[in-house]
Amino acid sequence: MADVTVSQFADVLKVPVDRLLVQLEQAGITVSGADAKISDDAKMELLTHLRRSHGSGAETAAPNKITLKRKTQTELKMASTQGRARTVNVEVRVKRTYVKRDVLEEQNRAQLEQADQKRKEIEAAQQFEADKVEAERREQERLDLENLRRLEDEQQRVRQAEESRRALEQRERDDADRTRRAPDAKGAQEPARAETRVEPRKPETRVEHKKPETRTAAEPRGEQNTRYGRQELHVTGGDAARFKKKKVRMRGRPSTPEGEQKHGFEMPTAPMKREVAVSETITVAELAQRMAVKATEVIKSLMGLGVMATINQSLDQDTAVLVIEEMGHEAKLVKDNEIEEDIQGVVTDEDVALEPRPPVVTVMGHVDHGKTSLLDYIRRTKVAAGEAGGITQHIGAYHVETPRGVVTFLDTPGHAAFTAMRARGAKATDVVVLVVAADDGVMPQTIEAAQQARAAGVPIVVAVNKIDKPDADSERVRVELSKHEVVSEEWGGSDIFVQVSAKTGQGIDQLLEAILLQAELLELKAPRDGLASGVVIESSMEKGRGAVATVLVKRGTLKLGDPILVGQQFGRVRAMFDETGKAVKEALPSMPVVVLGLTGAPNAGDDLLVVESDRKAREIALHRQSRHRDTRVAGRAPATAEDVFSQMEDAKISIIPVLIKTDVQGSAEALRQALDKLSTDEVQVKVLGSNVGGITASDIQQAASSKARVIGFNVRADSGAREAMKDTGVEVRYYSIIYEAIDDVRAIMSGMLAPEIKETIVGVAQVRDVFRSSKFGVVAGCLIMEGTVKRNNPIRVLRDSVVIFEGALESLRRFKDDVNEVRAGTECGIGVKNYQDVRAGDQIECFSRVEVARTI
Ligand code: GDP
Ligand code: MG
Repeated sequence: MADVTVSQFADVLKVPVDRLLVQLEQAGITVSGADAKISDDAKMELLTHLRRSHGSGAETAAPNKITLKRKTQTELKMASTQGRARTVNVEVRVKRTYVKRDVLEEQNRAQLEQADQKRKEIEAAQQFEADKVEAERREQERLDLENLRRLEDEQQRVRQAEESRRALEQRERDDADRTRRAPDAKGAQEPARAETRVEPRKPETRVEHKKPETRTAAEPRGEQNTRYGRQELHVTGGDAARFKKKKVRMRGRPSTPEGEQKHGFEMPTAPMKREVAVSETITVAELAQRMAVKATEVIKSLMGLGVMATINQSLDQDTAVLVIEEMGHEAKLVKDNEIEEDIQGVVTDEDVALEPRPPVVTVMGHVDHGKTSLLDYIRRTKVAAGEAGGITQHIGAYHVETPRGVVTFLDTPGHAAFTAMRARGAKATDVVVLVVAADDGVMPQTIEAAQQARAAGVPIVVAVNKIDKPDADSERVRVELSKHEVVSEEWGGSDIFVQVSAKTGQGIDQLLEAILLQAELLELKAPRDGLASGVVIESSMEKGRGAVATVLVKRGTLKLGDPILVGQQFGRVRAMFDETGKAVKEALPSMPVVVLGLTGAPNAGDDLLVVESDRKAREIALHRQSRHRDTRVAGRAPATAEDVFSQMEDAKISIIPVLIKTDVQGSAEALRQALDKLSTDEVQVKVLGSNVGGITASDIQQAASSKARVIGFNVRADSGAREAMKDTGVEVRYYSIIYEAIDDVRAIMSGMLAPEIKETIVGVAQVRDVFRSSKFGVVAGCLIMEGTVKRNNPIRVLRDSVVIFEGALESLRRFKDDVNEVRAGTECGIGVKNYQDVRAGDQIECFSRVEVARTI
């Protein structure tokens, strides 16, 4: 059987037919195709050609280095600081890297240098060492050097032998087992340099351990005929061809040293070397895809490294690089943000038609100076009346059609806790209305607001408010503000001052005029076409609606069905509402809208971007989430009580751990920041978490494990959580005014436990049905679930554990009779004063305020 077809030949060589065809062509052998016969002469010619090109061919074909790892696991029993026994898993990893000769030589030199260095150190340390130890080390050293010398000699021998024998070698004479065994035997003689680290979870010890190429030259072989009759054709070089390299490595054996490969026809069996891009994290599936292997291969390889991973698990960069090298590819580290770039494609203002847009005006100023009242007057609705404590708790956005044009107003909360939110307001805004009460003058938050507006480069219109008051002094406001570089036009500055009264409406028209004038000067324009973008003003999770985000559109037109990416969240615009609650189909630039359809509540201040596909939105959001997770894990606060206590012991500081739950994201953020700021050198407030939604049993568990107290801001514990509270004794405090929460925590910190007003929930009623009567208005048919509901106590209406109204009872009736209290298990009719929107499923909680002496 002299001639075979190209495809048969390829089969023998274990190369793809295409590849062989290319090689044949390179060798100058013309064949008509895969089914053409290939003569022995042609095979010879091919071989000669390949040999000629081999010098370099083999270099590139053989992997530069092969890494082997062995792992042993043991357990250590240790007594912990608390006196309890702890089991620590100790993992010892030995890693050996077989490096290609030229690389090896390079490293030899380095190692010699290192040995030299080490010797010098040893000499210096000699006088302190016992003779015996010294002798031992010297012996060790001598062995090291001897090894090195042996290594070099051996390499030399291998090279010579290999060169002289190249032409004679035949594949059948290659004894794979013998050669594979050799390095192992050698490895046993050599002291394994292993490093151990007592680290329960993730030992990272990798010891680069260079080993000599141990394969000795193969014996000269007699001539032997191949299957295809020609002795010259030694098409494979032992196991290099019979086992895929990957497999060999995975079994923990050294792969064929390149001495063998060089004279074998191994080029076709060489793995395809790819450059694999890895960012800071990469999932197993992604990694497999980039290396063009099955995910199971990657998982297997990870197991070899002692990492159990699932296909969707994300790996850190180090692990990914190990796997890539393990599989014979090259890792290319890429900037993690690459995915973030060009999310919407590059759009410059020249590309799209710009159209005028309404100004976005943020009303800022000190608390109680009349921001909300001013907005109210402009909107001619009452917002302040419904607010707890008269403080705007969340940023509100209103799209107001004034007689002089459309203006979008953002109301910002006044308390110090909201610095972050105010800063955000300034960022999203075109004009700042700085409200200063003429009777109160410039206050800390007035200055802060002015600075924020200046920093954002936003023009300021000063509304000197409450000029209806007898003690109003607008000149004083001017003088005080000029000290902070807010100078009125009359005084040669550039800021417009308008005197107004939110009570009488005086000056409001001039204020609007001034705002619109400033806006006109800015020539505000935005494209209406193209992918929309915007910024989140507030967000929350609502039962039945999911994530709800108030978004201010900045460019483009946001439409129903658009795939969106918002911070770490993604989704589609499922529904949109304007600030009056009316459903809208699209939102133009400068319009605030409530958007439903996100997977989770984004953070206030996050950018909203419409992207071209759901896939892209999802991909980027998940990428951001995993990054966020990673950074959070990296800088994690002590999460368990043990951690906290051990830290306290360490640093002699006391820590007050708290867990925050709020109704909207903005408050969570604000409270967190405010509490973080309270920390001093001696007492630290550790916010373990700040999340949106009712307090659940798992929150209580988390708090219990960290000995934390829970702060519920406008949210309540659900029944599961209340059970858990009884079991764990976790303290939950409810607040509806942020600074009360802050004051409380501060008081705890300072140990000044003045008597406090403590709220106790005395009864909870479940609304079963709602009736409307002409005589009593809206009456809720209720069942008292817990405690007693009392006629004269204050109440709150809760929906999905979130406070939606606080006030008093209008009526409490059993059948037809007015009663003063109703006990658990009884039905009753409840009318809530000034609140008509009670619904079936709501809870009405009745509470009392009592003064108690505080103890920790
Ligand atoms: P914000 O905290 O800045 O939003 O202030 P509010 O709008 O809640 O107002 C605080 C208090 O000042 C409320 O009691 C208002 O009725 C009162 N107020 C606001 N503007 C005026 C005004 O122009 N004249 C008078 N007399 N009272 C005002
Ligand atoms: Mg307000």
